[in-house]
Amino acid sequence: MADKDYYKILGVSPEASQEEIRKAYRRLAKRYHPDRNRGSKAAEEKFKRIGEAYGVLGDEEKRKHYDRLKDAQMHGGGAWNFEDLFGGAGRARRGGVGPEGPGGFGDLFSRIFGGAGGVGTEYSTRRRGRDVHSRVRISFEKAARGGKVTVRMPRQRACERCGGTGAAPGTGSEVCPRCGGKGTVSSGLGGFSLSRPCPQCFGRGRIIERPCAACRGTGTTEQVSSVRVNIPPGIESGQKLRLSGMGEPGVGGAEAGDLFLEVQVKGHPTFRRDGLNVYSALEVDMADAALGTRMEVETMDGRVSVKVPPGTQPGQKLRLKGRGLRGSDGRQGDHFVEVRVRIPRNITQRQKDLLEEFSRKAASSTQ
Ligand SMILES: [Zn+2]
Ligand SMILES: [Zn+2]
Repeated sequence: MADKDYYKILGVSPEASQEEIRKAYRRLAKRYHPDRNRGSKAAEEKFKRIGEAYGVLGDEEKRKHYDRLKDAQMHGGGAWNFEDLFGGAGRARRGGVGPEGPGGFGDLFSRIFGGAGGVGTEYSTRRRGRDVHSRVRISFEKAARGGKVTVRMPRQRACERCGGTGAAPGTGSEVCPRCGGKGTVSSGLGGFSLSRPCPQCFGRGRIIERPCAACRGTGTTEQVSSVRVNIPPGIESGQKLRLSGMGEPGVGGAEAGDLFLEVQVKGHPTFRRDGLNVYSALEVDMADAALGTRMEVETMDGRVSVKVPPGTQPGQKLRLKGRGLRGSDGRQGDHFVEVRVRIPRNITQRQKDLLEEFSRKAASSTQ
């Protein structure tokens, strides 16, 4: 890709303004112009490359595309997915085939910019499988402790009957008349052409003689399959798990897409959680709250003895340090018990007398 660093070719920084790019181009174009360098092959080559670089960087729209591609290549060498580039989402996909391999950077690059010099214009019929988005509901305990769950879901898998070729077993295929075997069709838009997978051959470049009955020639069938998913401890509702290669299969032997699973955590009859902290309620008798006591509390770790200090107030939260959830990063949450003070509904005559005495004392002590 060194010969594709257009900024380097023009000798400007990637942050250069359009004006700076234009000036740099003019200066270099003058210097390497064939008229001034009669017979110099090197200068001619240089002049061509300067023109190519300016053709992209000098156009703000093309420059933006170029920057994104360059960025994607630098960060993890990820291949770009078509739909991402042309479907508007515009985000880079990590992983994938090598940057210069089929369907990779160089390939796509040539498709965007019309195959200007250096990179081949041959379109590869390899295409990465689509990502699949799904949801999984897990129990409070599973979310807390982590572990494996089995998710059953319909997914597009390579057809078992035809092995993913789409052709009925024993039959062949011919070059697609619509795309001429390239696997893509182009449409001109805004001055340069956009490619998309050929709708007639599904991007394969070949049309099958007799389609496979099981997949109607698509090469994939929807199959309900079980996926074992590892849930990290401390996961929260709304978090997404990414399972590499568990999405739809790729075309032409390209890698599969990813599966994104959004986790939903079911409620618990007694526990509530906020991040790694766990909350529960604790009913304490009026007298115990006033005098103090010890009580047993259910936590995620089992029963724990908690000290209710004298003068505990309704709504007060008692903290059981380190009794909450442990996150996958090792952080440890706490358990909080919120005190509910129980006021007796039926009391004996003696209790009534004592409370009245207590009430008189309380009143006199506040004077
Ligand atoms: Zn099939
Ligand atoms: Zn085609």
